[in-house]
Amino acid sequence: MSKACRICHLIVEKTANMCPSCKTQDLSSEYTGEVFILNPEISDVAKRMKISKKGHYALRVR
Ligand SMILES: [Zn+2]
Repeated sequence: MSKACRICHLIVEKTANMCPSCKTQDLSSEYTGEVFILNPEISDVAKRMKISKKGHYALRVR
């Protein structure tokens, strides 16, 4: 099970203790839904989630 950043929703390794994207330590192992954002410029999901970098994201983080 991986962890997801509470700020930007990026999914990180379960051993990570910091989000590589926004440098927060606010990570949660409780998240639901996963989405791969490949083209943030043209993705509606990325726009809605305010994602500007491609990657693997959680839809909801608790
Ligand atoms: Zn983050």
